[in-house]
Amino acid sequence: METTAAFAGLSCIDCGERFEPDHQRCPDCGGILDPAYDYEAISLSRAELEDRPFDSMWRYEELLPFPREMAITMDEGATPLVECEKLAAEMGVGRVLIKDEGRNPTGSFKDRGQTVAMTAAAQSGASDIALASAGNAGQAAAAYAGRAGVDSHVFLPSRAGFTNKAMVNVHGGDMTVVGGRIGDAGAAYADAMDEEEWYSVGTFVTPYRHEGKKTMAYEMIEQLGWEVPDAVVYPTGGGVGLVGMHKAATELRELGLIEELPAMYAAQSSGCAPIVEAFEDGKERHDPVEYPDTICGGIEIPDPGASPWILDCLRESGGGAVATDDEEILESAIAVAKGEGIEMGATCAAAASGAWELAERGEFDSDATVVLLNTATANKDSDVLRSHLMGKGI
Ligand SMILES: *Cc1c(COP(=O)(O)O)cnc(C)c1O
Ligand SMILES: [Zn+2]
Repeated sequence: METTAAFAGLSCIDCGERFEPDHQRCPDCGGILDPAYDYEAISLSRAELEDRPFDSMWRYEELLPFPREMAITMDEGATPLVECEKLAAEMGVGRVLIKDEGRNPTGSFKDRGQTVAMTAAAQSGASDIALASAGNAGQAAAAYAGRAGVDSHVFLPSRAGFTNKAMVNVHGGDMTVVGGRIGDAGAAYADAMDEEEWYSVGTFVTPYRHEGKKTMAYEMIEQLGWEVPDAVVYPTGGGVGLVGMHKAATELRELGLIEELPAMYAAQSSGCAPIVEAFEDGKERHDPVEYPDTICGGIEIPDPGASPWILDCLRESGGGAVATDDEEILESAIAVAKGEGIEMGATCAAAASGAWELAERGEFDSDATVVLLNTATANKDSDVLRSHLMGKGI
């Protein structure tokens, strides 16, 4: 594999061993592998980064495992950070900004993970990639696999949204729709993987999805003129983006580009809130949710394997966790669309709804800068949002 100069292999978050870049989970203990860098070998100044065009997440090439010229990319990332004055006034904080990930090639931030994971797959010589997904990751994987000339095998639960399913087909992916929920799709995927030699681009199987998603934090901090936001509220499922962004902030601090870390908040639906429950109970690991039930498919993850890492990030950054009901989440999506114009996906609106709840609890200072992640465009959920309105006679 051709890697960037400072990339120093994959480090197991459980046993600390280092491995070559072509590994997935730790061969010794099964732990998650995390790309490591020799930060001393990276010299990046604020001015140097600002001089680069804001054109793609690959503009942070030195802090990514693979060179930009090797990347399977559609210029994903470099999304706007949109000022939302009405939300700030309603929440009683200084500023609210929405990082609008809906403006990625396939309409969600899953593109950031798949561009890096697919680059690794292509460099490993994979002919086929596979994953189980609630929807957006499958759509993104099918798109990037097509671009890489690799076959894709996508396992989705029947509850996945129509757009996700349609677009996996349109990108030429081999799609298996499994009755039930994400766990059922995961089981069908695991059975298939026992038989096939497919390269996994699944959550925390590939070490490269959180690595791609981390670029959201580089961007928002640079977009804020290197002012670190006081709080980042993230709709949390597997926690890939959350651990990625926390890592990114610690890297910027390590490089001397910032001093503080943003407080990371996990927002979930009360119908499936294993991280919130573990955080509130002071636990190191979650208890799986037996009967998950939320309309927010992207975060209906009852058994997030990386929970100890997620919980560490919340605590280390001085953040927290918050759950709100689906009803409030859908209302928040509609309020943001109506008041700010931003088309916020149903799942993503857990971040808006969670931020409102945190604001009400007095968690934010009156001059705080709060960033909400709109992880996917509302286009994908327009049926869900519209039927919520219809249910109210609108
Ligand atoms: C996948 C997904 C999430 C959750 O992402 P994690 O990083 O795995 O927690 C949130 N929102 C949307 C729209 C998603 O597709
Ligand atoms: Zn290990």
